[in-house]
Amino acid sequence: MNLRRKLVAGNWKMNGNLAALAELGAIAEAARGASGVDVAICPPFTLIASAVTRSAGLAIGAQDCHAAASGAHTGCVAVPMLAEAGAKLVIVGHSERRADQHENDEEVRAKAEAVLAAGLTAIVCVGESDAQRRSGEHERVVEAMLAGSLPEQWENGELVVAYEPIWAIGTGNVATAADVAQMHAAIRATLVGRFGDKGGRIRILYGGSVKADNAAELFAVPDVDGALVGGASLTAASFVPIVEAAARG
Ligand code: PEP
Repeated sequence: MNLRRKLVAGNWKMNGNLAALAELGAIAEAARGASGVDVAICPPFTLIASAVTRSAGLAIGAQDCHAAASGAHTGCVAVPMLAEAGAKLVIVGHSERRADQHENDEEVRAKAEAVLAAGLTAIVCVGESDAQRRSGEHERVVEAMLAGSLPEQWENGELVVAYEPIWAIGTGNVATAADVAQMHAAIRATLVGRFGDKGGRIRILYGGSVKADNAAELFAVPDVDGALVGGASLTAASFVPIVEAAARG
């Protein structure tokens, strides 16, 4: 029996404003109705505190953090600040940050450690590029990212891994169920090899063009414990069917 509850997390990226928080009403209602599923939305930093006030049944998270608790880091946001605003989880190492802000595995790992030390959930993203998949390096690349980006030990908080092939993000090119099955099995084997029983309890999300019409098939894949959803998380109309598919699967 799979004891891992599904987690469906939305990443609003640099989208949304106070008016867009109206979407949270229907999303939170769906989350309350999806009893076996955890649901989260990660809006931009500026909306976190306001989102929390509309989120009964729904967790609100952030899309990044700094690894330090405070200090001279202009423009950055520390995990204790996010926690004070009501965030329960933080996405770290998203491929857009690895590309745009040149974040490396070491920085991602330090951020994940800071999130876990604060007792929050860290969603650590890994995934290969199109060129790496075409050249057959995808498994090796993802294993190296896991080796470098995951913390060694953690006592508090929850570690979640999101497998997000870069070529599937925002492109409509969703990975096939067979490709997802192969990669999630490889990730699970790596996690169990490294963390033992604890590795068997880590949730592994798939991310990359998840939509209402492909969610059920993806959720049926062994070791797919939910989804990290970008574009389709921006409205209740496109996100709620994904939550409902997770509840059915
Ligand atoms: C993401 O940004 O994490 C993502 C998966 O985006 P999309 O669902 O739009 O592909």
